[in-house]
Amino acid sequence: MGTALRLREVSAGYQREFVVGGVSVDVPAGGWLAIIGPNGAGKSTLLKAIAGLVHYTGEVALDGRPIRELGRKELARSLGYLPQGPLLPEGLTVTDYALLGRTPHLGALATESASDVDIVADALARLDLSELAGRPLRTLSGGERQRAVLARVLAQHTSVLLLDEPTTGLDIGHAQTLLDLVDQLRGEDGTTVVSTLHDLTFAAQYAERIVLLNGGRVVAAGTPADVLTTDALTEYYGARTTLLTAADGSRVVAPIRRR
Ligand code: ADP
Ligand code: MG
Repeated sequence: MGTALRLREVSAGYQREFVVGGVSVDVPAGGWLAIIGPNGAGKSTLLKAIAGLVHYTGEVALDGRPIRELGRKELARSLGYLPQGPLLPEGLTVTDYALLGRTPHLGALATESASDVDIVADALARLDLSELAGRPLRTLSGGERQRAVLARVLAQHTSVLLLDEPTTGLDIGHAQTLLDLVDQLRGEDGTTVVSTLHDLTFAAQYAERIVLLNGGRVVAAGTPADVLTTDALTEYYGARTTLLTAADGSRVVAPIRRR
């Protein structure tokens, strides 16, 4: 598999202050990279840099082409970005909001076709939102809103998904459904995934590779087993944890209460 996303010495930040420094990483097509790290480590900023939403230096390339060279519409057809805590057009229904994901694919007349409507209905069904399709966003619970935003991103049908804390506000069942769905897209369509994940057990179970950021720098990178060590979690999160192995061999990062 080729490299879908290539970062070379990416530094990014706000105004004149860089809060992410010198990140280099390759994500293969169909791969899943999780970006982890304590609060304020720069995870969201790094995702925003890849999405072209904050100032950055260095290079971000998509299928070998620097994303700086891609037009807005082309970029939106390739990169789907789920922001952390976005402001929503509260008056729109779930369906009308998810249809916004089709905008980069519309022709000159900019009207949705039956196939756009089908794509949105499919995304809503996969996210357990069909019953809420006609509801205004302002009437949704936090977890339902989060899934509505993901429905818009999935309706965009992009080859790369940038997901910033996609399980925020979701109960454990909906979180698993969402991550399983993303993993299914990876398997079926070769979708490439870069996500921040504050839940380290989910990071261990779903990501193929993990980058651990601290103070905007990569302090560890590799497979989940390489990166998720109790020592690293103590050093960078100040956390007391134990690593368990579930019956199926998957890893579980469990917190230990101080006694
Ligand atoms: P994380 O997602 O890892 O919690 P962020 O990338 O959101 O961290 O933030 C990294 C650093 O950048 C933090 O110190 C934060 O205060 C700062 N920061 C985030 N957003 C902005 C902004 N819009 N303007 C200025 N500083 C910001
Ligand atoms: Mg964040």
